[in-house]
Amino acid sequence: MQIDTILVKVASRCNINCTYCYIFNMGDEGWRDMPNLMSEETIKDLSRSLSQLLKDQDVPFATVLHGGEPLMLGARRLQHLLRELREVLPLAYPISLQTNGVLITEEILDLCSNYRVGISISIDGPKEINDKFRVDKQGRGTYQKVVDGITLLKNHSDAEFLYAGLLSVIDPDSDPEEVYRCLKGLGTKSIDFLYRDGNHTSLPYGKSSLDSTEYGEWLVKLLDIYIADKTPVKIRFLDDILRIALGGIGVKEGLGDNFYGIAIIEADGSLAKNDTLKSNFDGADKFDEKWIIQTDRLSEVFNTSSFAEYYKLQNPTSRMCNSCEYLAICGGGMPLHRWSKENAYDNPSVYCSDQKLLISRAISILKKEGMLQ
Ligand code: SF4
Repeated sequence: MQIDTILVKVASRCNINCTYCYIFNMGDEGWRDMPNLMSEETIKDLSRSLSQLLKDQDVPFATVLHGGEPLMLGARRLQHLLRELREVLPLAYPISLQTNGVLITEEILDLCSNYRVGISISIDGPKEINDKFRVDKQGRGTYQKVVDGITLLKNHSDAEFLYAGLLSVIDPDSDPEEVYRCLKGLGTKSIDFLYRDGNHTSLPYGKSSLDSTEYGEWLVKLLDIYIADKTPVKIRFLDDILRIALGGIGVKEGLGDNFYGIAIIEADGSLAKNDTLKSNFDGADKFDEKWIIQTDRLSEVFNTSSFAEYYKLQNPTSRMCNSCEYLAICGGGMPLHRWSKENAYDNPSVYCSDQKLLISRAISILKKEGMLQ
């Protein structure tokens, strides 16, 4: 088992309260048992643990600092964390940070520059779209504060390295053109769009039935806008579909038939499954075993049968997926989107009809361009 991404929950709380958040607002209660912030002792255990993993596995892995909101660590503890990590992780082992952008300061940016940490910011589009769901604890929109953070980032002398991209959750009621123009206007070099969390038992926001195609239609419009743009900003999700359709491989879970080794380290040092599973039911991301970095060696955990079973979740098992003409590109979507109370993960993606619409459009564009038979 080779791990390619270690996602570290350095803070278990957040400074804002996005209404769609799978950590706090979709029924999972795991955050209540976690320390607010990763302690200095756990940070030391983390760096020792990653240093051991680096020796135990041949392939480099990426470390993503995540939350809650990772910048709730504050500058002093963030510096401690980055110093500890960079002492054991050479530059071939990328470190990045996923933030809501509200707490970005010059001091934070200087630290990230110093320790070579790329920053990706979550924002869903123009103010009226972003502020529908991305709100603070008083319910006020966060758009302006996020844009202020992005402006600081864009103007930093090391922005070319630091500003890794934007992450945006799709609102199927929005206009994709407006969203794309807004995000492009924020000077990013790449955008990643995400489907909303949801499953067969609890349909995602904006999806009226399993057969409906609200998200597929939105993504098809985005694809057409993207293809027509002479100076496009990379859209990872669409690039992966086009690349896989042309015989290449994707770069991130949720598309294609590649397996990704993703491990989550919680703020108390315990190991968990992919945190997006939390959106299905309380504790869906928990292993039966309680592994902790303080005492367990990561490479040994990654080679247990429980971990292998979790890893295999990426493989769609439903008969519909396994006889589907789009399987090699779609990959059955993200495991969290396959879940239902009755069949667990043995279903196609709840976004199946959307994926079919989008992939067939991508294929027809490639054929029209003479890039595909
Ligand atoms: S398009 Fe639907 S049936 Fe085909 S692989 Fe994707 S989720 Fe499965």
